Amino acid sequence: MADIREDATKFVEWLSSQIIEAARGDRESYLEVDPRGKYWLGRLATEEEVMSSPFGDRSERMAPCAIGIRIKPKGPAPWCLKLTASACAWWRDRTMPGVTAWRKTPVFSESKTITVEREGIDSTSETLEELSERFADELDATVLQAAVRIDVERGRGGATEIVVSMVNESPESSNQLADTGLYQVQLQVSEIDTVPFLLESLPDSYRYDRRIAAYGINCGIEVDEVGRISTTDTPTVNRSRPIYWSVDAPLPDFSFENLAHSPIESLEKLVEEHEKWGESAWSKETLDRRAIAENWSDEMRASADEGAGEFWEESNRIKRGLGHLRTDDSLLRSFRLMNQSMEISSRGKYDSWRPFQIGFILANIESILSSDDAEIVDILWFATGGGKTETYLGLLVMAAFHDRITGKKSGMTAWSRFPLRLLSLQQTQRFADATAAAEIVRRKVGIEGDPFSMGFFVGDSSTPNRVLLDPPAGKPDSLDPSMPARFQVLLRCPFCDGDVTMKFDRALWRLMHCCSNDDCPWPEDGLPIYIVDEEIFRFLPTIVVGTLDKVALISMQAAMRGFIASPYGVCSQEGHGFTYAPRSSRPHGCLVPGCSSVSRPLTSPAKRFAPTFRLQDELHLLRDSLGAIDSHYEGLLDHLEGKSSDIRPKVVASSATLTGFERQCEVLYQRKGRVFPTQGPRAELAFWTTADKNQLLRKFIALAPRGATLEFAADRSILVLQESVRRLVSDPGSVCSEIEIDPANVQQLVSLFGTNVIYGNTIRDLDACARSLETQVPIDPLVTAQLTGHTPFEDVRNILERLEKPESEFDERIHVVTASSMMSHGVDINRLNTMIMLGHPLTTAEFMQATARIGRTFPGVVFVLHKMPLERDASLFRSFKSFVEQGDRFVEAIPITRRSRKVLERTLPGLMMARLLHLHEINSGQALTLITRVRDYFSTQRIDAKHELSEIVSLLHIDVELEPKLCEEAHSILSRFFDLLHDPAVNKKFPNELFANPVMRSLRDVEEQSPIFD
Ligand SMILES: [Zn+2]
Ligand SMILES: [Zn+2]
Repeated sequence: MADIREDATKFVEWLSSQIIEAARGDRESYLEVDPRGKYWLGRLATEEEVMSSPFGDRSERMAPCAIGIRIKPKGPAPWCLKLTASACAWWRDRTMPGVTAWRKTPVFSESKTITVEREGIDSTSETLEELSERFADELDATVLQAAVRIDVERGRGGATEIVVSMVNESPESSNQLADTGLYQVQLQVSEIDTVPFLLESLPDSYRYDRRIAAYGINCGIEVDEVGRISTTDTPTVNRSRPIYWSVDAPLPDFSFENLAHSPIESLEKLVEEHEKWGESAWSKETLDRRAIAENWSDEMRASADEGAGEFWEESNRIKRGLGHLRTDDSLLRSFRLMNQSMEISSRGKYDSWRPFQIGFILANIESILSSDDAEIVDILWFATGGGKTETYLGLLVMAAFHDRITGKKSGMTAWSRFPLRLLSLQQTQRFADATAAAEIVRRKVGIEGDPFSMGFFVGDSSTPNRVLLDPPAGKPDSLDPSMPARFQVLLRCPFCDGDVTMKFDRALWRLMHCCSNDDCPWPEDGLPIYIVDEEIFRFLPTIVVGTLDKVALISMQAAMRGFIASPYGVCSQEGHGFTYAPRSSRPHGCLVPGCSSVSRPLTSPAKRFAPTFRLQDELHLLRDSLGAIDSHYEGLLDHLEGKSSDIRPKVVASSATLTGFERQCEVLYQRKGRVFPTQGPRAELAFWTTADKNQLLRKFIALAPRGATLEFAADRSILVLQESVRRLVSDPGSVCSEIEIDPANVQQLVSLFGTNVIYGNTIRDLDACARSLETQVPIDPLVTAQLTGHTPFEDVRNILERLEKPESEFDERIHVVTASSMMSHGVDINRLNTMIMLGHPLTTAEFMQATARIGRTFPGVVFVLHKMPLERDASLFRSFKSFVEQGDRFVEAIPITRRSRKVLERTLPGLMMARLLHLHEINSGQALTLITRVRDYFSTQRIDAKHELSEIVSLLHIDVELEPKLCEEAHSILSRFFDLLHDPAVNKKFPNELFANPVMRSLRDVEEQSPIFD
């Protein structure tokens, strides 16, 4: 059988050409519909049309009357160049009565040699007479006219630039022709030496090839091997699949099996090769040589030195990690047990680490050993390639084993947070698989302590905060037999892959995932997976995954204490779990409704209960108001954890962004940021990854629909994609011989390319697109599905399952998924290999993440439809190739600040309430839930606004001298609180009611990410 990847690559090429040719009309010469309503690429409207359009400049971008090439000529004037312009036309054939017929002329072309005599701004125009004559002869009508314009301009830095364009000068309408547009238009410039343009210089520009041969105007540019510059309707970039070992030495054995037994030798080799590579790629001699050859500025040379410094720091970190493994037995044992666990949880889908994953784990081993490292946020930069979640999990599972081995028998090891709505069920399943595998290993080797378990801390929208004895309507009811199934999170048993059923156990008061396989290695009824908030508090699972917004709960929920310190005790009733501050409804602090059993003291050391790791996935999304508000809560968590335990948690994050991460870490966490892996000295030269030029990863094709809406272009593209795949289904023989693929691969190709993704940036775009698919795409059946933040939890689960395991009949499968950014995180489905993107996302990071859903295992293709009326899309279209190839440097710095009075107004009540709950209440030894109690306690302890202000100023790291206004704001909010607290006339019961702004219940309402200006 021919290699499926090779055939998939051919199939991608074929699909792409099908769409492009259909959009431009390359293969057709006869139509029974108006070509203007069919073709959306390659047409030039008339200049008259554009001039009379009310849309001004935007009209020129939506349906241009000219395309052009901008070059910088080499040497002094005069400059001589050859240009070739070509086009065809469509005319209405009225000779057949009763039939609306259109016919196409051949593609005619004309070449001219142009001389620009001297420098200096100038503009000339020359009619393309030969072209007009050929059209006149063919059509028997002197109507169509085109011209070339030569504009001599002065560019940035004073160099002369020449713009050569081809303009459609035909009249706007003609009775004879019916359509005066030109089709399949192309322009070429040759026989002139040019100087490349340089992309704007950034500090690390020594890494990139900044040269661009020419810029297109209303089009893309292609340069062939002899230097001819042509316009193109479809700027295309092929990206190669990465490989993860870049040096000649054989890849050390990073299999889980080997690392579970005798890891040291392979790790030594890694450290050695890494160092050796650095000595050549980053040496002073190499950089000096390049500085001369590539004409670096002093600034570039200095930043290359900085890059080298970062590389050597990374090298030292992994070396130190190895050193610790050599000398610390508990650590080595944890590492080996972690590898045993990963072998189980990978299910044979992969059996070893990629070198960068092992590198990351080695580099971060210090953070398991001591909290010295906690002053630095370590960021896994995942543009490097897949395997981010597993890399995290490796570190966390190792830390969990280390906790148990060194005496922490209960409590959380890590709290892993995802931005809102971006925690996918697939990702959750992977966390569960790893936790379950670690538990199997823990049992096998007999390590003491609570079972390793996982919590899913999302709450309310997807899973319940609590299950009440007597719930109000709409809340989960323990007596409702259909209730448990609604909250199923796991797709399968993490221990044995068996089917999962849901059940509510009224005796234990647990909403349980249960495995239906009798041979499951997990011995109990309910799996150790907790999805109800209160169960998470009762059992403090080893690894909690959830959404970031839940952090706000710390201000209202005494039982959130396990996230920053130890619980009060353990309920004496078996299976009830940890207890917290007593309340009238829970006299001994047990969270099981109605439990009146006494609480027993904890058996493991209280100081070690709090989590040692706080993870943040997709760090780059914490920006604007969400970032600002979270920064206050991060400060609060550190403050509470610092005052209640010995732990300074380590923050580990993942990010798609390299720009400005230092400042982001500083603002969010008051810590320094550090990225792994460091970037190589050249964009394509890095130790941890390199490109395999023979393997297509993803093809990116930029399309600028002309004279058509984006929905129209999307509909037409879907039509072609679906028709093409259906041809392969119905007539495999002819397609196979046409594109020379092995018939044995047909089934798989149908599966890999039969489902198309339409990615939209707004719900409005997606809804419009979904509606139009229904009515405008004449294909039956066309099964569509939508994946956005508004898609109900249960539907998401079903759609993902159908995508992963498609129906056997092609007609029954999902054919098109319309999706928003919701799918750009954690949805890993190998079957999704074609994407149509409706305009550029707001950020480059999102572009990279969204498109990374495509072509995960097999070659994929992304058609980026540009919204040309938008300046940003138009400009990205012009530099599409550099944008895709050097996306990292286009990633925008992240707007974030902590110092906003508006934000403080919203967060301060929560900060104060959390201090009351987790610090004052503990000190007071009584419930401080009522105003009267708080008043008495604060009076006897002499706690006033000034005291609280100084604590809050310190937890937020506000500089009193530099930020007097922020301090004043905090002071005025706290003063008001204390004034009311001591005012006997106040008619309120609970302290949180004394704030003008409500205590934030969730970060949900700020998710809109409005920018912050003060
Ligand atoms: Zn099972
Ligand atoms: Zn109890």
